[in-house]
Amino acid sequence: VNLSPDDGQLAYELDRAHVFHSWSAQAALTPMVIAGGLGSTVWDFDGNTYLDFSSQLVNVNIGHQHPAVVAAIHTQADILTTIAPAHANLARGQAAQRILERAGDEFSKVFFTNGGADANENAMRMARLYTGRDKVLSMYRSYHGNTGSAVAATGDWRRVPNEYARAHVHFFGPFAYRSEFWATTPEEESARALHHLERVIQAEGANSIAAILIETIPGTAGILVPPPGYLAGVRALADTYGIVLIFDEVMCGFGRTGGWFAFQSLGLVDEPVVPDLITFAKGVNSGYVPVGGVIIPPFIAEVFDETVFPGGLTYSGHPLAMASIIGALDAMENEGIVDNAARVGSELLEPGLHALAAKYPVIGEVRGLGVFWALDLVADPTTREPLSPTLVGALKAKLLSLGMLPFFADNRLHVVPPCVVTDDEVARGLAIYDEAFASLDV
Ligand code: PLP
Repeated sequence: VNLSPDDGQLAYELDRAHVFHSWSAQAALTPMVIAGGLGSTVWDFDGNTYLDFSSQLVNVNIGHQHPAVVAAIHTQADILTTIAPAHANLARGQAAQRILERAGDEFSKVFFTNGGADANENAMRMARLYTGRDKVLSMYRSYHGNTGSAVAATGDWRRVPNEYARAHVHFFGPFAYRSEFWATTPEEESARALHHLERVIQAEGANSIAAILIETIPGTAGILVPPPGYLAGVRALADTYGIVLIFDEVMCGFGRTGGWFAFQSLGLVDEPVVPDLITFAKGVNSGYVPVGGVIIPPFIAEVFDETVFPGGLTYSGHPLAMASIIGALDAMENEGIVDNAARVGSELLEPGLHALAAKYPVIGEVRGLGVFWALDLVADPTTREPLSPTLVGALKAKLLSLGMLPFFADNRLHVVPPCVVTDDEVARGLAIYDEAFASLDV
């Protein structure tokens, strides 16, 4: 397909005239027009290329235009493009089987949704029906999606204008660098955050709480890798008080942390913890077709053996999405793409980002694993005051001018390339960050 700069201009004009954008005041937007992409690179209509170290919305884990995923979608389109969820469909069963093989023996079924928000919506619904309770506890530092209960469960600013649903209670999770608990070590942070959570459970009334919903590693909130013992402590509290534990792996799942799921990656360095329900989307098929879902264990699935599950979606288990999951997971397995994310994380990004932090005091903390890293940018390393939006904006503009598509959230630069990123691309990315930080007038 040959597209010209005129097509780029038309795309921009049609967008500005007719497309209403997410999470934005519409008037001042100047969206970048992307013409195409391959692997970790995207390009515009004028021939400028960019290293995509955002993976878009941290979802293109397999990289852009992976041929195996594109071919799987083509093949399924020739067979059957759509079918209602009530029918059995081979691609749907095979996609569910592949997801369950990776999640572990504790899980037996998958409920497919259109994306991450409705995955959380349905996980909360299952927990409420399973326990007969209604409250859901989740973290202030979280994002769980933009539908009724999912946005009410979200902790960040996006919840506030949308808070119509009741029965949602928030708590502070651990974040040693900006501790809410006056902790001075990760162990202290973990213990005090667990004490706080238990007090919230008791004060709300344990018998009213259906679920604790947490991102295994809070993503948009700052890639907050939990300190040792925290997830095991949450698991113990859920067990003590009969609460369903839901891990939202929408952003951190399917390769991002260097394992299939974040709870498995963390289990290699800390006490292994298995949740009751897992929600997923993004990396499962890298967003080539919209899809998400809930991974369910037998003890919750069985509740709905004789009782109707009161939930469903026209496009649940859509054949094109299912084919893209099969294509993506098989390619990730066959090409060692998850292992690549782990290796790139420990051998290249971890030392490379720490070297940048040693050089530039504006980088207050480096945290993460796999291809899931955050640089916490500060005006002053001693007070840890967040870097001003003006300087964050200047850094972003510089990175773009150097050919890097970055991911920023508040005062943080998230380093989140696709899992397929090559050593050469990481070296180029680190050099671009270096040049951009050197140019910052702090
Ligand atoms: N959960 C987490 C952790 C996310 O990061 C997101 C999206 O960024 C969602 C849920 C919502 O997913 P979606 O936008 O597909 O509805």
